[in-house]
Amino acid sequence: MAWSTVLDQERVVDTLRRALVQDRVAHAYLLHGPDGVGKRAVAYEMARALQCPEQDDEACDACPTCRKTRRMVHPDVHVHLPHPWSQESDRDEEDMGKRIRRLGENPYAAIDYVRRPSLSDPSETSNQQVYYRIDQVRQDVIQPMSLARGEGQYKVNVLLDAEKMREEAANAFLKLLEEPPPQTVFLLTTNRPEQLLPTILSRCQRLRFDPLLPETIKQALIERDEMEPDAASMLARMADGSYSQALELAANENLMTSRELVLDYFRAAYTQKVEPLNRCIQELQKQGRERVKSVLRLMLRWVRDLLLYRTMGEDAPLVNVDQREAVARFCGNLPDADLEGMVGLVEEAVELAERNVRVSLLLTALAHGLARAMRGRDVDGLYVPLSEAELQAAA
Ligand SMILES: [Zn+2]
Repeated sequence: MAWSTVLDQERVVDTLRRALVQDRVAHAYLLHGPDGVGKRAVAYEMARALQCPEQDDEACDACPTCRKTRRMVHPDVHVHLPHPWSQESDRDEEDMGKRIRRLGENPYAAIDYVRRPSLSDPSETSNQQVYYRIDQVRQDVIQPMSLARGEGQYKVNVLLDAEKMREEAANAFLKLLEEPPPQTVFLLTTNRPEQLLPTILSRCQRLRFDPLLPETIKQALIERDEMEPDAASMLARMADGSYSQALELAANENLMTSRELVLDYFRAAYTQKVEPLNRCIQELQKQGRERVKSVLRLMLRWVRDLLLYRTMGEDAPLVNVDQREAVARFCGNLPDADLEGMVGLVEEAVELAERNVRVSLLLTALAHGLARAMRGRDVDGLYVPLSEAELQAAA
């Protein structure tokens, strides 16, 4: 197995294997690129290759060390996650340990620590933001570095979603990065490298990850997840180059309900009728921030399909293949709609949902923006409500 657990990303994998063989491993690597394309899978395999005493450029998968790194219980491989803090000392160590092991079992599984604040209660939802706090960085990352190496050849630290370090935490981490203890390797993953301190960026060797090809995702769904080729093909096209996203869609029994919700939301946005719109927004809000993000991504695919259909007509290669009729109807009913404007608005909403904006406010602003765009009016971005006159004209 070893590197074959990683889908594609040959360029990145080759770079790391060469560094291992030539014994020129950097102190710190920044693995950056979109979610679900294999950054974590590569970080784990690199950690395992570094520790395995049997082979140079990959884990042998047979020795006692490899068995430990595979189970994520090696004392010199530390995996760190940002945490959904709600109170000062609120952290469930057992829950964190379980999450890290679960991510070890499938490095392509989506991290769901926000949607499910507690793994033991999958129904619990949350709109909390997660981040690394300074005391967490001191206690979990910096302090263990002052101890002697246990049994490993290296001390390896994997920091997932490293952009979620708040400034204080990032500065503390930077000090460690400036004077790294010998035989230490940091593997940082992020989908937003621009949010890291430039001083941290400059000390990391950067490795860029590309979105996966739909064909790669399709094959993985068939071979690893035993999915039927037709279903695999459709999910692969909907997944925006992210295997994790495809797995999420596959696991999401509510996908169809979500798509209904998207259509209801568009209808309510268009008519600007307060009650149906509020109902939609409440329905979405109570499902938590992560679910809202995934619904917004569905919206994005939907409006991109509209754009494709308008440009190419009947032959358009729609992502939502089963919704061709609804797409055609929308395009027919709203010939003046500013579809590029709609795509821009939803993209902006996806971006804002990643930040700490209030979900209800975001969905309200988006509905106002979409209402304008659907009427072919100018769109300046979010937070531009319709005037009273326009509302009355719509009624
Ligand atoms: Zn080994």
